[in-house]
Amino acid sequence: MLRNKKGLVFGIANNHSIAWGIAKQLAENGAEIAIGYQNEILFKRVKPLSKEINSNILVECDFNNDDSINKSVEIIKKEWGTLDFIIHAVAFAEKSELNGRYIDTTKGNFINCLEISCFSLTSLARSFEPIMNDGGSILTLTFYGSNKVIPNYNLMGIAKAALETSVKYLSVDLGTKNIRVNAISAGPMRTIAGAAINNAREMFKFTEQHSALKRNAQLDEIGKSALYFVSDLSSAVTGEVHYVDCGYNIIGMPSKL
Ligand code: NAD
Repeated sequence: MLRNKKGLVFGIANNHSIAWGIAKQLAENGAEIAIGYQNEILFKRVKPLSKEINSNILVECDFNNDDSINKSVEIIKKEWGTLDFIIHAVAFAEKSELNGRYIDTTKGNFINCLEISCFSLTSLARSFEPIMNDGGSILTLTFYGSNKVIPNYNLMGIAKAALETSVKYLSVDLGTKNIRVNAISAGPMRTIAGAAINNAREMFKFTEQHSALKRNAQLDEIGKSALYFVSDLSSAVTGEVHYVDCGYNIIGMPSKL
């Protein structure tokens, strides 16, 4: 489905990362993948995985650093000239504040979290716009805590709300170039970022029990939905937040089992 499509995937930390689940599906469907990794420590974990999907372009990119995004554009321009898709599966907040009351969020953490988890999408979209092909697709990852209160998700909920609204504004800005921007709202997954939220296990169990399908989504299921957004199957879809959460978000009141 993705033969002749090339794209850059940000957010692989290990083989449990949502970005890895997506990269695998896209590669299995014929896409050529370049990987953006955060730093040297991550490189050691990402390098072996890159071989599994025949990815030969690995780009260091720390979203705290604008120069880093510009350098990644230069590398992709040199290697490929243009690209067809970007996967943005990156977020960060201080673990100590993914706990307790939102009201106690510090200004430093607020700004840093919004920069990495939200502004980076806008920054990537603007920086890569000149080399994105007609029919291109940008996909980010969000969570239900953006519009309903989830215990301990706190500041990350605010960042995801801003991220989801960014998706809408970006989709209009880039729509004239036929570049689409969407988000997948994934149910809770067992990843490093997921485990940083206090009582993540309880949330995982709760959504498993109370989702419409009575289970949580698997990594490959997030990947398959990403495949739809990156491929031409979704050519008329942009500005959307699409839930891949086994129907948890539609539940108004959990029924007793
Ligand atoms: P993960 O820990 O595997 O991935 C997070 C990635 O963010 C890592 O690769 C890390 O290197 C990267 N990152 C953090 N700070 C960065 C920076 N300054 N510069 C560049 N990269 C940086 O966790 P994940 O769960 O796969 O998270 C991927 C995305 O999915 C995040 O946006 C997360 O909020 C979202 N999400 C996760 C869940 C869940 O339950 N795990 C649910 C819905 C959405």
